[in-house]
Amino acid sequence: MHREGRPVLRAALPGSIEADVAIVGAGMTGLWTAYYLKRAAPELDIAVLEKEFAGFGASGRNGGWLSAKIPGQFRRFAKSRGIAAARALEREMIASVVEACEVARAEGFGDEVVRDGLMHVATSPAQLARLHAQVAELPDRGWIEGEDFRLLTPSEFDERVHVAGSMGGYWSPHCARIDPARFTFGLARAVERLGVTIYEGTTVRRIQPRAAITDRGVVSAPTVVRALEGYTGSLEGHRRRFLPMNSSMVVTERLTDEQLASVGWRGAELLGDAAHNFAYIQRTADGRIALGGRGVPYDFASGFDRQGRTADAAVTQLGSRLVQLFPGLADARLAHSWSGVLGVPRDWCAGVNHDPATGLADAGGYVGHGVTSANLAGRTLRDLILGEPSELTRLPWVGRTARDWEPEPLRWIAASALYAAYRHADRAEYRTGRARTHASARIADLISGR
Ligand SMILES: Cc1cc2nc3c(=O)[nH]c(=O)nc-3n(C[C@H](O)[C@H](O)[C@H](O)COP(=O)(O)OP(=O)(O)OC[C@H]3O[C@@H](n4cnc5c(N)ncnc54)[C@H](O)[C@@H]3O)c2cc1C
Repeated sequence: MHREGRPVLRAALPGSIEADVAIVGAGMTGLWTAYYLKRAAPELDIAVLEKEFAGFGASGRNGGWLSAKIPGQFRRFAKSRGIAAARALEREMIASVVEACEVARAEGFGDEVVRDGLMHVATSPAQLARLHAQVAELPDRGWIEGEDFRLLTPSEFDERVHVAGSMGGYWSPHCARIDPARFTFGLARAVERLGVTIYEGTTVRRIQPRAAITDRGVVSAPTVVRALEGYTGSLEGHRRRFLPMNSSMVVTERLTDEQLASVGWRGAELLGDAAHNFAYIQRTADGRIALGGRGVPYDFASGFDRQGRTADAAVTQLGSRLVQLFPGLADARLAHSWSGVLGVPRDWCAGVNHDPATGLADAGGYVGHGVTSANLAGRTLRDLILGEPSELTRLPWVGRTARDWEPEPLRWIAASALYAAYRHADRAEYRTGRARTHASARIADLISGR
């Protein structure tokens, strides 16, 4: 994971230019949009504008879960557009996992992508109760037991991965393991091969109908796509659109055979726990364990991205969670840590938008499930921009924009208090051993609308 190193920069925008489509941000959203648009309409002149380099943002540094988890809340999508539409989003996410894997293979960046599914483990009675409640909802969401998910007893779970204190969990086949940097760099190269130009080292300051105004000139284009997710607030007029939520990761050195045996994880399943301060984990293709979590979730005034640097407190917290779950790794050295930002809309539901009148389009706010969502968003934006109504343009996240977040300091106080409540609830649930979600987490869910 993240074995690519820092790439050599592509050329910056040479000055003002004209294009058919300007895409702002070269993460997975911008790149998938460019990929599908150019394939469908090769005559389009597409310019991707990127402040740093393609894959610099969350897309190049995530936990590598190419998962079918929908980017938002099923009940909210169902409430706004009906249950059939919300179920359609679930099915399209499942199909998008397969689609992204197939394109990666066909375009030569899928050699390490493995679709072994996703497991969630419970390590306290309250976590187990929550997992069972989540699984009980899946059939209503259109998931078929045995096909789309399977409950695992503690011993069945243990056959796949040895997690200390495991009370069992569930497995779903709809997830693939990726190395995010390799994947995004590979996608960028595929986009270039199609004839799209990616301008790096080019900061977009403002977007307006038919133009992206950068520090190096203006790109005039009938369609301008905003694909900045956690960085959206850096654009003029978009400061409170998404809350830029930090997520941090640690990765061990390559494990010894003995350490690997203690973990017992031979497949490429992705692994998550069921804590409120949720940990997402992968065994990397080169035999390390990478674990991520919220760390320090939010900086005052939506401050984002200190070039990936991670607070010491977050590294300690993630390192101790790793050893709690895998005590056999007590001596494993952490090789790296890093952080990134993802985008959270006020209603915790992602949106994909295109206004034919202004030519402005955007996608993002995937609340931590952006890897597969970006593929689906890219195909959906293709259809919207080309004016071709499809199953995708009818999905319930199309045309969905939440209200802005509250101004500071309210936003910082609320976000910090919520995550303190979740940490408190996790500790209390372990301490009491009760099979019930702790009150502070229930209140936090109510307040946040999560
Ligand atoms: C640590 C971490 C772990 C995660 N784990 C997972 C996971 O396992 N599975 C999952 O589904 N999701 C995960 N996510 C979320 C997921 O990675 C993101 O939702 C997704 O990658 C967003 O892609 P994007 O292209 O919309 O945004 P980004 O990848 O953030 O891309 C935005 C790009 O815009 C550029 N940019 C910023 N400002 C400007 C500007 N002014 N002008 C031009 N360019 C600009 C940035 O440099 C960046 O390259 C994780 C996120 C983080 C941070």
